Amino acid sequence: MNEPNPALPVLSICCPLRDEGLALAAFFDRLLPVLRDIGEPFEIVCVNDGSADETLGLLLKIQAATPQLRVLDLSRNFGKEASLTCAIDHARGLAVVPIDADLQDPPELIMEMVRLWRKGFDVVLPQRVNRDVDSWLKRKTALWFYRLHNAIADAGASLPANVGDFRLMDRRVVDALKLLPERNRFMKGLFAWLGFRQILLPYAREARVAGASKFNGWRLWRFALDGLTSFSTAPLRIWTWLGLLIALIAFGFGLFIVVRVWLYGRDWPGYASLVTIVSFLGGIQLIGLGMIGEYIGRIYQEAKGRPVYVVRERYENEP
Ligand code: UDP
Ligand code: MG
Repeated sequence: MNEPNPALPVLSICCPLRDEGLALAAFFDRLLPVLRDIGEPFEIVCVNDGSADETLGLLLKIQAATPQLRVLDLSRNFGKEASLTCAIDHARGLAVVPIDADLQDPPELIMEMVRLWRKGFDVVLPQRVNRDVDSWLKRKTALWFYRLHNAIADAGASLPANVGDFRLMDRRVVDALKLLPERNRFMKGLFAWLGFRQILLPYAREARVAGASKFNGWRLWRFALDGLTSFSTAPLRIWTWLGLLIALIAFGFGLFIVVRVWLYGRDWPGYASLVTIVSFLGGIQLIGLGMIGEYIGRIYQEAKGRPVYVVRERYENEP
């Protein structure tokens, strides 16, 4: 732990927001008492990620009564990973806590997280003990995703189960995170890759207080692909082995036909099987090409080197 600079906050709460107008008041009503109880100087960095509702107006209203609130307004919607990156980039505290505004991450936990941080842990990871607020499908797909990811991810990048972005990170961890140059920011994976001294803190996840989740099936699928491609090249390499296996099978089958013709003569009605095999292999090849495309697309994104987010305006009480 570094020596606190009295001009800077000890605790930074980082909050990405998109269309959270309905949840904001309840969120601050629960967050602020916790932060006051902890008794350390704090700041709340809220990033408005291109909300179409009254989120920004409400934030500025809350800011009038809460000078510790800093608001960054992005130029459009950049997605959760980008808005969270923005919030963390601007945080100045010695400990940084990303949290969702929908109260699915209970603010009361921050007290215990700070206590564990004071004991010397660099990362305190709240871990959900229940997922019953999620639908059956979301629970199952999440479970399969974690299994697959951890089976093929690079060493060090395996994700602890049922851990989200909600966590406490020491300044050292945040500074290290900022050194990771990738634009495709799969935050959970980046956090895990960093390592540091971690401790798990079990808690019960609640349902959203208001509004709806912004992650539908398609977005979750894209998100899962981002995660897998960021931390594993197995989906690229698998085609070599699959190709080899299929070539071997084809070779064996060819031999079988030769022997059969040799023994029984040339009578092999094969139209249906031929069409099936050719179209099956065509499909396999296209999947392989598509997988390569997923990586090339991401290489292209990285090569362009565009910023992860664009800030339209900063609303802060101090410079
Ligand atoms: N969020 C964001 N930009 C987006 C989508 C979501 O900043 O494009 C924020 C959202 O306001 C919330 C957090 O990210 O504070 C988590 O989103 P959500 O609750 O919809 O995700 P879920 O809990 O369903 O995974
Ligand atoms: Mg949520």
